[in-house]
Amino acid sequence: MLNLERSFDLATINPATAMSLPLLAAVYVPPGSSFSLPHKVKQMKVSDVFQYDPHLHFLHWKAPRDPSLLQWKRAPGSVFRGLTSGQLKLQSYFAPVCRPAPPTESVVTFAPFVEQLQLAEGTSFVAATTSAKTFRAAVLSSVLSPMALRNIAPAQWKWFWSLSLTTIQRNVIYRLIAGCIPHRRLLHFIMPATYASPLCPVCLVTIDSAHHLLFDCPSKEQVWQGIIFEFLWPTTSLGDIKAALLSLDFSDIWYCQTTGIKPYRILLITLSQLWLAHMRFIFDHIPVNPSVILASIRSNVIHTIEEDGCHAIL
Ligand SMILES: [Zn+2]
Repeated sequence: MLNLERSFDLATINPATAMSLPLLAAVYVPPGSSFSLPHKVKQMKVSDVFQYDPHLHFLHWKAPRDPSLLQWKRAPGSVFRGLTSGQLKLQSYFAPVCRPAPPTESVVTFAPFVEQLQLAEGTSFVAATTSAKTFRAAVLSSVLSPMALRNIAPAQWKWFWSLSLTTIQRNVIYRLIAGCIPHRRLLHFIMPATYASPLCPVCLVTIDSAHHLLFDCPSKEQVWQGIIFEFLWPTTSLGDIKAALLSLDFSDIWYCQTTGIKPYRILLITLSQLWLAHMRFIFDHIPVNPSVILASIRSNVIHTIEEDGCHAIL
């Protein structure tokens, strides 16, 4: 629903509905304005700074000395100055309720907003007898997929979903492509109270990232070098491996020293074993040991070859 085409400019709302909106829904920073909204505005409702005039039926800003404004410290004053200077504007649907008007319904209703939701070809969302397929098409057409996902050709996705992988093998590469690896820099950014440092918890010297966690941290890089030496063409670089994994295009990594297994399987096994080793380090405090990880990759490779061999016989 959030992704449907919409413009609420034409929605007509009543003062009661306007008062119940988050303040952020009532104002916007126009293009070219350098206004920076105070943090507190995110928690505020329209009714925190506006009040309803029961005689003239409109909303107006509370008096500057209104005691209810005190809890918001300087935020109301800052928003007010933004509005009076034009650095901040009222949304088109909100402005009319700030002008005296005849009395209207006092029931809070979001129907005026819902009526503005549009499906393809300008059909109103409310009027349409919509099939799930039309709804999905309308949503998809208004969403631009992240850059990382756009780098992958549809044929590569089709191929990827056709592979018989373990859940963890599929999960880790998908997280890598979609930018969902929980590295320390990200965790520190989201929860600084829990994760005090953005540094890699393994080597403790580099600011963490998805690539550092899975490839570049010295102990992980040692594993990749071991894999290249043992299974792949010796001049394969870590850059080649990253490029192949992020594009799901493994055509440049076609050579494998071991028969009975494709190189992409070895890369996916390595990625998943590195992830597991990292999780064991985080949750069970088991040190990241490249020799141990290499041994588990080797046994996984052998297991995969045997399993594929069995399937071929059947
Ligand atoms: Zn590290």
